[in-house]
Amino acid sequence: MSEQSTVDPQVQIRGLHKSFGKLKVLKGIDISIRSGEVVCVIGPSGSGKSTLLRCVNLLEQPTAGEIVVDGYLLTDRDADLNLARRHIGMVFQQFNLFPHLNVLDNVAVAQRKVLKTPKATARKVAMEQLEKVGVAEKAKEFPARLSGGQQQRVAIARALSMEPDLMLFDEPTSALDPELVGDVLTVMRELAADGMTMMVVTHEMGFARDVADRVVFMDGGVIVEEGQPADVLENPSAERTREFLKRVL
Ligand code: ADP
Ligand code: MG
Repeated sequence: MSEQSTVDPQVQIRGLHKSFGKLKVLKGIDISIRSGEVVCVIGPSGSGKSTLLRCVNLLEQPTAGEIVVDGYLLTDRDADLNLARRHIGMVFQQFNLFPHLNVLDNVAVAQRKVLKTPKATARKVAMEQLEKVGVAEKAKEFPARLSGGQQQRVAIARALSMEPDLMLFDEPTSALDPELVGDVLTVMRELAADGMTMMVVTHEMGFARDVADRVVFMDGGVIVEEGQPADVLENPSAERTREFLKRVL
């Protein structure tokens, strides 16, 4: 796996099922994502969006199906999950920063622990990422001193510091005050424009319309419909998509 993936499609999900006990959450998801593509996943609460993302980096173990990232079969019994996950960054609704580490060390720690990068190098990379997301001036602060929008941008910088070639975002702006959403979306737009492959679960329909190459509508653990943003968001073919959009738009 390299920083800029040459394997296409970069992500292949085939027949993905996930159950928790008797509860069937994902009921056969098939999706392929090209290198550099931005796919927005929308759908009602409980439809399985988070579970889908969590399966892609194996935070959840799929019940059945295959997931291939960069030509690497993640669902293989013998897959080296740590190696694979290194190339997949994830950003959560709750930023999950370490409260006892300052911003710079929050971003540097994964390189130190996982990649065994020397401290000075890790901090240099961390500083570059913090500059990219516009919070370099907060490097010495602890997370609690930052706004939610700043904390989320630190979380993005932390993921980017590992040089992922796939980024997963699970409702990254849902926990933010409305006036802070824009800064985070701007960082995500820039990342998309830089060619990052992204899977984004979001309720931000404006972002989906402007930035996504493809919008996927999920309901009840299946993909109900997918297509170009203009088609899915403005001219959906399924009744379930129409109902959902009526409620959120
Ligand atoms: P969404 O992100 O679309 O709101 P989720 O993927 O979070 O949906 O959840 C889909 C369903 O799976 C929900 O019914 C949820 O309660 C259930 N679920 C998610 N994670 C777990 C878990 N770890 N254990 C049991 N049930 C879960
Ligand atoms: Mg969710």
